[in-house]
Amino acid sequence: MNPLLNPILLSKLAWNYFSIMGRIWKLNKDEMKRYQEKMFLKVLRYAYHKTIFYRKKYDAAGVDIEKIRGLEDSKNLPLVSKEELASKSLEEILPRKYRDKMGYKVSTSGSSGKPIILFFPLYESTINSIYGLRILKAYGLNWRKARVSNIGDFSIPGSSDEEIYRDLAEKAMSMKLLGEHQMLSVNESGEILIKRLSEFKPDVIIGYTSVLVNLAFLRKEGLGEDIRPKYIISSGEILDKYSRKLIEDAFDAEVKNLYASTEGAITAFECLEGKMHVNADLIYLETVDEEGKIGNAVITKLLPVGVPIIRYSGLADMVSLSDEDCECGINTPIIKSLEGRKRESIVLPDRRVIPPASAPLPLIESLEKFNVTNLERFQFYQEKMDRVEIRLKFRGETREKEKLLKDIEEGYRKLFGKGIRVEVKEVEKIENPSGPSLPPTVISRVRLE
Ligand SMILES: [Zn+2]
Repeated sequence: MNPLLNPILLSKLAWNYFSIMGRIWKLNKDEMKRYQEKMFLKVLRYAYHKTIFYRKKYDAAGVDIEKIRGLEDSKNLPLVSKEELASKSLEEILPRKYRDKMGYKVSTSGSSGKPIILFFPLYESTINSIYGLRILKAYGLNWRKARVSNIGDFSIPGSSDEEIYRDLAEKAMSMKLLGEHQMLSVNESGEILIKRLSEFKPDVIIGYTSVLVNLAFLRKEGLGEDIRPKYIISSGEILDKYSRKLIEDAFDAEVKNLYASTEGAITAFECLEGKMHVNADLIYLETVDEEGKIGNAVITKLLPVGVPIIRYSGLADMVSLSDEDCECGINTPIIKSLEGRKRESIVLPDRRVIPPASAPLPLIESLEKFNVTNLERFQFYQEKMDRVEIRLKFRGETREKEKLLKDIEEGYRKLFGKGIRVEVKEVEKIENPSGPSLPPTVISRVRLE
């Protein structure tokens, strides 16, 4: 039997559905803060009393969880790193009551280090997917009808796309609860993806930025002219200004940014006004080690179900938060900049750190100045503190290429300052040391102390 037909689960889900769907519009900022506080304390007690890992960790740190009364006190809780979570067995991080419950075992992509093995009970997975549908609602779409093409990790066993998304989407579609969702593998060639998208005719396409850029070029070359999505959602990689414009122009559709991960679920999404809203009723996002206003993202999942995630620093992204209001009517904090990983940043002798999201800015300026739109991918390679190579992969012929490369070089000399050797190089292929995942924007051999 389809477990989604279980009447108890169904009624719980229906109740959750109605409360989750409206919450980010309904609650004002103070009410949201109070909601977060209440859920944080619930999750903390759940984690401490039900898991071996958190109880040992907090006891060892001498934390009395009864003394944590709110979000302010939560700063006394020690952080959980990616390595730490990866080193624990499911028995240690998952409450005993889930051992024989229905659910999904998934692992995070181990592009750097050991992967984390997590377990998502069926109930938690369906709740997480309601947050996904809420994004479609925020875009004014009817999720019961919207045709969604998701180009993800669908052929990769153990990925949350393959294990959770596929199963839940197929079950919900068979029950006619959901519009058609097409699941395409990121490993397919661009030509095949275009063909499948043309047949399916999605309202929304979700994919990695670099995959979407590749499709944008094919579209510009005349393939898939009948692919006319309203929205294209970029996820899993930094969405830079150049790639965004390229995809938007090729498909004549709005591109929206999504900040999601296996551990952090949907942490934030871009609204119709172009602001990145934290999914504040699911994720409490803090920034720590602030230098200026940008700090390392630390998340707590506000759901006392499955594997608790409390003050987790393993996303390793640099973010800055703002409390400004947004015209769209969603009352959650806004991520002003989402900068990518610190260890994938350019580090300069004057201790400035240029993160992967900011690094392409001078490059984009030069491309706009020369009106060049055929750059397929770029990469910054920093071999030593005083030596940065900028690798560019073009598609087809480039007008005034010599002048363009010179202009890019000058732009970076200005940004980096004196004493840094900048080399701009055209390449045939972009280096990808991490293997099956997508090539990084910045490779730096310089380590921050
Ligand atoms: Zn907004």
